[in-house]
Amino acid sequence: MSQLEHKTFNQKITRRDLIKVFGAVAVAGSGIFGASKQAFAKSAAHVVVLGGGVGGATFAKYLRFADPDVKITIIEQYPEYITCLRSNDVIIGMHTLDELTFNLDTIKSKYNVNVIIDTVVGADFDQKTVRTAKGQSIRYDKLVVSPGIDFKFEDYEGYTAEMAEGDFPHAYKAGSQTLKLREQLLALPQGGTAIIATPQNPFRCPPGPYERASFFAEHFKLHNPTAKLIVLDPKDSFTKDVPFKKAWERLYGYKSDNALIEWVSGSDGGRVVRLDAKNMSVETDGGVYKADLINIIPNQRAGALAQNLGLTNASGWCPIERNTMESSLHKEVYVLGDSSIADAMPKSGYSANSQAKVCAQAIADTLKGDAPGTAIYSNVCYSLAGQNYGVSIAAIYEVRDGLIQPKGKSAGVSEITDKAAQPILEAVYQKNWQREFVKDVFS
Ligand SMILES: Cc1cc2nc3c(=O)[nH]c(=O)nc-3n(C[C@H](O)[C@H](O)[C@H](O)COP(=O)(O)OP(=O)(O)OC[C@H]3O[C@@H](n4cnc5c(N)ncnc54)[C@H](O)[C@@H]3O)c2cc1C
Repeated sequence: MSQLEHKTFNQKITRRDLIKVFGAVAVAGSGIFGASKQAFAKSAAHVVVLGGGVGGATFAKYLRFADPDVKITIIEQYPEYITCLRSNDVIIGMHTLDELTFNLDTIKSKYNVNVIIDTVVGADFDQKTVRTAKGQSIRYDKLVVSPGIDFKFEDYEGYTAEMAEGDFPHAYKAGSQTLKLREQLLALPQGGTAIIATPQNPFRCPPGPYERASFFAEHFKLHNPTAKLIVLDPKDSFTKDVPFKKAWERLYGYKSDNALIEWVSGSDGGRVVRLDAKNMSVETDGGVYKADLINIIPNQRAGALAQNLGLTNASGWCPIERNTMESSLHKEVYVLGDSSIADAMPKSGYSANSQAKVCAQAIADTLKGDAPGTAIYSNVCYSLAGQNYGVSIAAIYEVRDGLIQPKGKSAGVSEITDKAAQPILEAVYQKNWQREFVKDVFS
């Protein structure tokens, strides 16, 4: 979390501000992002999109709205996409993976987008071509890259990608690991101990580990009341920590003698440095913790494809021009979503969707010979601290002093009040938002 993001997360906002934010988001959701003017000119250009997840699929759809004639191709490695959104719900049986599974059929047929299922293995930025595993070479005029994240297993002695596919799933890309973690939660012995180790900033979905922790605690409350979860954190604060911790107090006895959940901060030695798989323990800066279930969510960097294409800098993420999402390292190449360095914007699906809309309009403008407009982005992240207890964070972003920063007083988190209905309503908003969001991306 950047200092700026940190400040935003801890800043309270008024109800009036929230309404302003959600009002603006509703407008943003209709696709009016960073538009200097509508781009209707005919274009024979070929825009190739690498990755058909949240960023890539949204981009292709919204570029079609902005330019009816441009040729658009998405290259995606898998025929089906499982959203990470709601994947924590699968761990506690609130949803199935089938309900989270989408494909690019509608993007292809409704928006006239060419879809190639293949893995991209390289690119030649001088020749403007990309290469795929099946041996195709595809020429582009503009290249858009949205490959998600990769994990830094090397930050943990004794933990590997192979182990994550086996008995130590991180379950931070939805799929078989999500189901494995569910199995492990259900199999936890009565009175057992579980550990969730959270990553260092920045990482995909900043509230994700804490929503997962809440779900573990709720599961224990219902089915295993003498069990305990220990959250080991390399950080001293986290997104929405004030409303999350209030929810943990209210629901799971946080900080009491019978707490179902304990949180160990970085200053208290919460950073995990080693996994001892044989003895089912982790070593942190502060000591050794034994558990029956160990879920390490590793530190992260830009998707492997972005690294292989040379789009990352020393931070491991992709620097971009803030008004267009064009790579600062390679002209005519744009990076969206989790892989990009978007300053105060969290790495969320909502952010990727918002960036994709800005980028689509910027490319449409450029192809028409116009200068791109000034970008406005937005993000709302809803999380559940229990199945019927929602917490949220929201902001509108502008480019100021060369950085993407919250605009005015638009940023804030759920207020803590005594109104019992408030978190219940936020949980309803969360469910409705997720249902509508995937439609905006894939339909
Ligand atoms: C547990 C959890 C819960 C979450 N909940 C929320 C939420 O409630 N709200 C929210 O806004 N966000 C949420 N997120 C975050 C959200 O899932 C990501 O921020 C979002 O998916 C980022 O979009 P992206 O386009 O950058 O990457 P992705 O959506 O991951 O898309 C990347 C795509 O690129 C493809 N790809 C990668 N490499 C190649 C290659 N070499 N060739 C071809 N294709 C390739 C991949 O197969 C994938 O389809 C959550 C994440 C997690 C882990």
